[in-house]
Amino acid sequence: MRRIAVVGGGITGLAAAFEVTRNARDAHVVLFESGDRVGGKIRTSRVAGHPVDEGADAFLVRVPDAVELCNELELTDTLVAPAAREAFIYVDGVLRRPPGAQLTGVPTDLEALATSGILSPAGLDRARDDLTSTAPPLRGDASIGAVIRPRLGDEVYERLVGPLVGGINAGDADALSIRACAPQIAAAAERGGSLIAAARALRSEASVDPTAAIFNAPRDGMGAIVDRLAKVLGASVRTSSPVRRLQPEGTRWRLDADPEPFDGVVLATPAATTARLVDHAAIAASLGAIETVSVVMVTLALRRDRVAHPLDGSGFLVPERSGVPDGSGGIVTACSFASTKWAHLGDDDVAILRVSAGRERDTRAVEMSDQVLVETVTGELRSAIGLSGEPDEVRVTRWHDAFPQYRPGHLERVAEIDAHLTTELPGIEVACAALRGVGVPARIREGREAARRVTA
Ligand SMILES: Cc1cc2nc3c(=O)[nH]c(=O)nc-3n(C[C@H](O)[C@H](O)[C@H](O)COP(=O)(O)OP(=O)(O)OC[C@H]3O[C@@H](n4cnc5c(N)ncnc54)[C@H](O)[C@@H]3O)c2cc1C
Repeated sequence: MRRIAVVGGGITGLAAAFEVTRNARDAHVVLFESGDRVGGKIRTSRVAGHPVDEGADAFLVRVPDAVELCNELELTDTLVAPAAREAFIYVDGVLRRPPGAQLTGVPTDLEALATSGILSPAGLDRARDDLTSTAPPLRGDASIGAVIRPRLGDEVYERLVGPLVGGINAGDADALSIRACAPQIAAAAERGGSLIAAARALRSEASVDPTAAIFNAPRDGMGAIVDRLAKVLGASVRTSSPVRRLQPEGTRWRLDADPEPFDGVVLATPAATTARLVDHAAIAASLGAIETVSVVMVTLALRRDRVAHPLDGSGFLVPERSGVPDGSGGIVTACSFASTKWAHLGDDDVAILRVSAGRERDTRAVEMSDQVLVETVTGELRSAIGLSGEPDEVRVTRWHDAFPQYRPGHLERVAEIDAHLTTELPGIEVACAALRGVGVPARIREGREAARRVTA
């Protein structure tokens, strides 16, 4: 039997280990996790008696890997789709409904955009100018802001595209790679001319069924996926087993956490850890240079009648600088109305809110004590959704260095890392969220592909 090591027990490492056990019959896998539990940034715990996620709360259905894995784990019957899909946008102290059809925040229905009240009349006119644009096709990479601002204006960027893409990455879309973080907008921009027209064409070519579920999650929360994987993997999983050193031994690899060498290793650890483990200056430098952003998730449960807003949406996004009415910017970046979004968490009397705080260049939330953080968050929710009184239950989850920031040119850097790995470190696979997408389906795909390569 060949011996395969997987380092890191987040969803990527778990998927990699699962792939080895399922599809490489001549290989034995050991998964090393430094913490006392597996799951990494996927964790579900109880709030108001319900299973509520502390990190990721859903996965995209369009990228099939998570749906397929749930099927293999016999979790398909437990999957549910959000009951509410529309996220409001908090502009000028008011929660406004999103402007209908869009492609990653690029509005494609200008009538709906006009009635949404999200843009000023001048901002709307600026967006309409795009319809007669003769912009050249996008070549190479650029920041999302560098593409959106000159074509659709600052307001479309700051109130629509920036909050959406920036929210997914906890980043600043003026500094994020359009190819890595918004490939659909990049595909529209590659066509040249009007970006709105290209976005409309892409939407209709994709013939998206507007009623089909975009996201899914197990009824018991995303933790159900990692729990099931851990159960299937059984004794192959070793928690409280940090790997600190990785050294070649002939054609094999020795890990300090195990006395026997391994034939192949999948590194499914965060970028900084991976950089330390890989004894290769160029790879370590590239990985070490990837910046990360820390965020905080504050989950509140309170009596429903303490919130004036009907909570008739999936939640709301907060554009930078518009978080508090004076325009100086609050710490809340998004709020999910969890008890509306997920029907099974709904209870006529209790509202559950998952509030995100912290984004690139804004470390205020991360630095606050729990008490000040909760006071600040509830204060901002008083303005946004008319929250009154104190929450009955509070849970604070801090995610340090959670979101890697993919800068323009990111995909070229990933290709360079891959080239070094293939030629200079055979038997090592790097499946790290800092490289090829943070979304859960992308993490599962990368873990499984890495496992297939290392056992090939
Ligand atoms: C607040 C939040 C909300 C999110 N929401 C969504 C969402 O709704 N949908 C979505 O698709 N994605 C979402 N994401 C992103 C997604 O959750 C992550 O990208 C994904 O879970 C990362 O998985 P991973 O296994 O690659 O890394 P991680 O989960 O970071 O796992 C890495 C593991 O490696 C372990 N480790 C570190 N060092 C060592 C070592 N030396 N030895 C052994 N083990 C080690 C760590 O303890 C950890 O368990 C969200 C992320 C956050 C933080």
